[in-house]
Amino acid sequence: MNGPLKKRRGAPEKIDARTLLSLRGLKILGVNPPVRDFAFMDLWSKPLGLLYILQALRADNEVSLLDCVAFAAEGEKSYGRAKIKKREIDKPEVYRGIPRRFNHFGLTKSEIMSYCTARDEPDVILVTSAMTYWYTGVKWIIETLGEIFPDAPVVLGGIYASLMPEHAALLGADYISCDRGEPPAPYPAMDLYGAPRYGVAMTSFGCPFSCKYCASNVLWPRYFRRPIGGVLREIDYQAKLGARDFAFYDDALLLGRDEFFYPLCRELRARYGGELRLHAPNGLHVRQIDAECANILFETGFKTIRLSLESIDPKVAHDGSSKVARDEYAAAVKNLLAAGYGAKECETYILLGLPGQDVESVKETIRFVRGCGGAPKLAEFSPIPGTPYFEEAARALPELRTEPLLQNNSVYCSYFSKSVTPELLQQLKDIARGR
Ligand code: SF4
Repeated sequence: MNGPLKKRRGAPEKIDARTLLSLRGLKILGVNPPVRDFAFMDLWSKPLGLLYILQALRADNEVSLLDCVAFAAEGEKSYGRAKIKKREIDKPEVYRGIPRRFNHFGLTKSEIMSYCTARDEPDVILVTSAMTYWYTGVKWIIETLGEIFPDAPVVLGGIYASLMPEHAALLGADYISCDRGEPPAPYPAMDLYGAPRYGVAMTSFGCPFSCKYCASNVLWPRYFRRPIGGVLREIDYQAKLGARDFAFYDDALLLGRDEFFYPLCRELRARYGGELRLHAPNGLHVRQIDAECANILFETGFKTIRLSLESIDPKVAHDGSSKVARDEYAAAVKNLLAAGYGAKECETYILLGLPGQDVESVKETIRFVRGCGGAPKLAEFSPIPGTPYFEEAARALPELRTEPLLQNNSVYCSYFSKSVTPELLQQLKDIARGR
């Protein structure tokens, strides 16, 4: 096998970003694993970090991509998103008692074999990872690629590998990459998808707030923003490939809006008119949405806006003040409705199942959101390693530290912490839907 990375016996070695980015003259295969979970929806999800790395490496290497999720698209959904092929599989043992179907979302083994046998054997395989509780899909793809390319060393990186490196070291990779930093390339290698139906952009990394349940600070200890010129270059590049829908992955898109977001929107309107449809699936800070901001969002073509109002319970609201959270939220929705958005478009995340959270406060938050004219959307809590609420949750359920499947937001509250029974969850969902 070519190159400095070798197949290893025993525990994987840690590899830093500099070593990874110094690879030369190799065939490099980037891999986004299939998702194994009860449910999965394409919310404009692309393996952005992997795509930046592939773009940075392609000047001196031959790169290719095996996206087991995107390449398994079997239908179109709104705004460029895709329906991903799924097949039911056996549940992992810890989910055995849960009366829900468990699925493999993505390419099958035979489809992966056909893809791989049509190509040269890679010198290095870079496997990314996302949610910690999706690790069984990561393990499966490492084993599958090990059968097809037994001599190619595997480097495992991504969010799960960064949050739980000791656990990730058990999956069969030869190297673990936990380094996180600024993108190593001006834009992601989206051309590896041919003509992508949507593009992705990240204008800032991290968040200056520090909510106890959120991994933003863990993954990005330093909040930083990219220059506007760089963001425009990223969008222009993907628009040239044909993308007309764009998802911003930012955690804090509107922060510093006068210096950054407004000029960016002005430039996007000047370049594209109303041609682009923009999406902010990660939640916008309501404090920033005054009348001007709401108008700019609408005029620039933001079609998907999600508002962050995790709760008006002062124990949960990140500024500790339920009164401020209420007033700011009510004003933001009023401004958005006045700008032209419909009530359904003001979808609002309400976090549920936090340690010590009072279910009555969740019900009250749902009613408050509906009363303001917004659309409540329950978001079930997932304990994320490295966050203060994870520590609290793990004191009650120590197995969370060693079994990431228990961290799955689809089942954690109802079946593991048992803070919200499945019946109560259904009742809350009904209230949220206005039933
Ligand atoms: S929840 Fe939102 S405001 Fe809080 S730290 Fe995360 S991104 Fe920032």
